[in-house]
Amino acid sequence: MAFADTYRDPQLIKQTLQAIHENITQPWVIMEICGGQTHALMEHGFDDVLPKEVELVHGPGCPVCVTPLELIDKGIAIAQQEDVIFTSYGDMLRVPGSDKDLFSVRAAGGKVKVVYSPIEALQIARQNPDKQVVFFAIGFETTAPANAMSALKAKELGLKNFSLLVSQVRVPPAIRTILSDPQNRVQGFLAAGHVCSVMGYHEYFSIAEEFKLPIVVTGFEPFDLAVGILETVKALEEKNNSVINAYPRGVSERGNTSAQDIISRVYEPCDMKWRGIGVIPDSGWKLKPEYADFDAEKKFDVAQINTQEPDICISGLILQGRKKPYECPAFGTLCTPQNPLGATMVSSEGTCAAYYRYHRK
Ligand code: SF4
Repeated sequence: MAFADTYRDPQLIKQTLQAIHENITQPWVIMEICGGQTHALMEHGFDDVLPKEVELVHGPGCPVCVTPLELIDKGIAIAQQEDVIFTSYGDMLRVPGSDKDLFSVRAAGGKVKVVYSPIEALQIARQNPDKQVVFFAIGFETTAPANAMSALKAKELGLKNFSLLVSQVRVPPAIRTILSDPQNRVQGFLAAGHVCSVMGYHEYFSIAEEFKLPIVVTGFEPFDLAVGILETVKALEEKNNSVINAYPRGVSERGNTSAQDIISRVYEPCDMKWRGIGVIPDSGWKLKPEYADFDAEKKFDVAQINTQEPDICISGLILQGRKKPYECPAFGTLCTPQNPLGATMVSSEGTCAAYYRYHRK
């Protein structure tokens, strides 16, 4: 606890904020890519204490938010089938599909179970050989090793009743997409410490060089966030377009190579649709052909399900740092966490949900 307290020490945070004030001479737009960091920045009131020259914009790093609506509809269609046990992390259950959510499927008698890992879902499959057990395998690089491990184990065990409904996305292609947009405003990035703890940060060197901006690997505690912003501001002021690891207690340059090995045994790169943004080339992982038997989209006949987002929603622009939630006409009126219309309101880590919860603007 003493260790965690160090990174929440008000005095240390105050000193770091003071250093940001002392180092900044002009306006800068900085994006935190991770929804967990968005939430933490809002929760700790960073936008009230940072110099007015720092504009924080919020990236597409909330896994629940970017899971395509049509995949949620596919999950719901699978979960309603007679012989299926549908398993998922709890936060996906309340995400509305086109006309219902997984909670309502469960309330109507569907076998929808909350699990804490895909390995738990695998156990359920072993205990229920007469049922098809499906795990909703969503997330960024952080969830990929455990999701891949479940497919690996299922293959080893010869399980015929286990499959994954996959929406596995990667951060670096999303950063490239944001930076390639002619209307991009982002001048520096906070890279997410937990993603980098798995993948390292070596992939970011070519991005920093190509787009000529700093990328700072940052943790999640208030002191980590303050240090990340300070390092970004200093790099911007010094025109230092490099990758800086401000989270060395959790991240190394090459990351967790054992976890990466598990990912590459099971998954291969693919184009991926991001809710609110659309298809980003090479931004996801799908199961390799030798794991096709564990692909729920192939096992169940759901390929034809195609869903459109509401026209009013501007979450795609918010996820690219081009708009703020309060610029959406539906924010806080038609669209609330209880009745979310779009990607960035469906999860507590979504930018619209964070702004709503902490009453920003
Ligand atoms: S407030 Fe709702 S409708 Fe508006 S951008 Fe956010 S998620 Fe979309």
